[in-house]
Amino acid sequence: MEWELGDDDRMLVEGAREFARGELIAKDKVWDEKEQSLCGILPQLAEMGFMNLRIRSEYDGLDCPMEVYSHILHELAYASPAVAVDLSVHNMVGEVLQTFGSEELRRQILPTWGTAESLGTFAISEPDAGSDPSSIQTTAELKGDHYHLNGSKMWITNGLSGRWFMTLARTGKGKKGVSAFWVDGNSNGIERLAIKGKMGQRGSELVSVHLDEVEVPVGCRLGREGQGLQIGLAALDGGRIGIASQASGISEACLDEMCAYAKERQQFGRPIADFQAIQFMIADSLVELDASRALTLAAARLHDAGKPYSVAAAEAKLYSTEACNRVAYRAVQVHGGTGYVNESRVERLYRDARVTTIYEGTSEIQRIVIARGALK
Ligand SMILES: Cc1cc2nc3c(=O)[nH]c(=O)nc-3n(C[C@H](O)[C@H](O)[C@H](O)COP(=O)(O)OP(=O)(O)OC[C@H]3O[C@@H](n4cnc5c(N)ncnc54)[C@H](O)[C@@H]3O)c2cc1C
Repeated sequence: MEWELGDDDRMLVEGAREFARGELIAKDKVWDEKEQSLCGILPQLAEMGFMNLRIRSEYDGLDCPMEVYSHILHELAYASPAVAVDLSVHNMVGEVLQTFGSEELRRQILPTWGTAESLGTFAISEPDAGSDPSSIQTTAELKGDHYHLNGSKMWITNGLSGRWFMTLARTGKGKKGVSAFWVDGNSNGIERLAIKGKMGQRGSELVSVHLDEVEVPVGCRLGREGQGLQIGLAALDGGRIGIASQASGISEACLDEMCAYAKERQQFGRPIADFQAIQFMIADSLVELDASRALTLAAARLHDAGKPYSVAAAEAKLYSTEACNRVAYRAVQVHGGTGYVNESRVERLYRDARVTTIYEGTSEIQRIVIARGALK
């Protein structure tokens, strides 16, 4: 499917595509094999402008519309789903600060957001709070002009190299007792532990973070006390467009691998692409890829138009991530035994696809958001 883009936007997207297909694919293979952090490439990603895409120009950002941003993440995910998720989280967190931070904090942080040293993390989940962030146990107690944060955060993407943590902590009881904070990762009392043994996207850092009497100035609270859940959920609405874009990038990569292999591999004296069973797997995958892009761009356009987009983002995330798992499954099937070993790229894509239906709200949680919208 072709998409209409203005000249500047097209250059950005084509730059991402060229870089991804020219350089990233080989790097991603190494990060996967060694389960090595991709963060060494951040200076290059920053140089290319991918780290402050969603920041407004008044804070030196690229002011990139959500629609264009979605195309960029799709292109990067085609080559490295790990790079796409890291940038998706980083850009999402910058946007949270831009929307809910004080003007003083924005002026201090956002002009640096496009640099490798400013990597952001979204530290919401805890060992006992995943799908239900209202059950977080991390506390923030106000003492003088600082909050003191204590607790543990789990599954934090970018958590080892990240400089800034956007986090939620409890300032009171119940859902209205959750507040959002902007935490400097260099503060005393922060301990980070890498979580190893990931199934896919192994270049992306995954970390548990322990907070022990971490002091956060009052001015680094985002929004009002008690507004934390609203801020976290608003961030996830935008984040879901990012993950839907990542998933469609994985689908397109799988489809290309499938088509190339089907044309080259011969059985029964002819290319397997001649068999209708193989053609149907390719056809179903192309339809699901195009449907994923259409849903994701529809959500992105609503966001760009300033209209409500939360349900549309959940639809895009649900559909694109489930579809990319089906497409990756077919890609392995078309490759036969070759698809089962890590010499083939589809083996890696199959593993990379799996987590997309889990993070930033599982498929079950997306269905809850969509049904709530339909039933209201
Ligand atoms: C690679 C990776 C990266 C991540 N990055 C981040 C990050 O950067 N920041 C962050 O804060 N978190 C992050 N997460 C955490 C992620 O968002 C959670 O794993 C996810 O929200 C699910 O929470 P959980 O794992 O605790 O599962 P649970 O919430 O325990 O869910 C278990 C199962 O129960 C289902 N379930 C739960 N509640 C309901 C319900 N009401 N109705 C129906 N089914 C339900 C779920 O859908 C799931 O199938 C990451 C996770 C992974 C694996």
